[in-house]
Amino acid sequence: MTAPVPSARFLIVGPQGSGKGTQGVLVAEAFGVPQVATGDIFRENVKGGTELGKKVQAIIEAGDLVSDELTSELVRDRLEQPDAAGGFVLDGYPRNRGQVDDLDAFLASRGEALDAVIELSVPREESIARLRQRALDQGRTDDTEEVIANRLAIYERETAPILEVYRERGIVDEVDGVGTLEEVTERIFEALAARGLSVRHNGGNGAAA
Ligand code: AMP
Repeated sequence: MTAPVPSARFLIVGPQGSGKGTQGVLVAEAFGVPQVATGDIFRENVKGGTELGKKVQAIIEAGDLVSDELTSELVRDRLEQPDAAGGFVLDGYPRNRGQVDDLDAFLASRGEALDAVIELSVPREESIARLRQRALDQGRTDDTEEVIANRLAIYERETAPILEVYRERGIVDEVDGVGTLEEVTERIFEALAARGLSVRHNGGNGAAA
């Protein structure tokens, strides 16, 4: 029997434009687990013209939330893939209380739980400035002024409160999201390390620090 691998089940939360997408990928790579970003999955489906894509396109373009039912099913399917057995970095899900309950039920049915929730804090003006820049760089259809305002309002109304639920469980690490990419990544790793969650060293001979 091999020793159990420590789990790395993380959630990264922050307003649009907080850099959570980029940081989520870096954390996932460092821990050797997949990053699961619901927004990316939805966008790929829209681009590919799938049935799911057709269902969600108008919702995404308006910056509204896709139904909990559809979103939670999508996430369950993804987390059931073998590459997510030892962990994952969820980005953009759960986004409201109903999705927190769905995720809890799914994880509990597998005897699992989240290990840490990283809250990336960025002032509103900074988020807006970054989203405007991303609109110029990437041309996302949901990065228009009106849709940005709607998405941030939904974040503040529905998503920010879920942090209270996780705070009560003592698993939230608030990380200052203002700084260089490297500085913010370092802060995240420090916060996780303080919980005894250290980066797995992949590649090489598998020697762990
Ligand atoms: P994001 O890239 O995370 O900002 O997501 C882009 C869009 O996808 C959102 O504005 C929503 O329309 C949709 N979306 C992503 N994640 C969720 C979720 N957990 N629940 C509902 N809708 C979502």
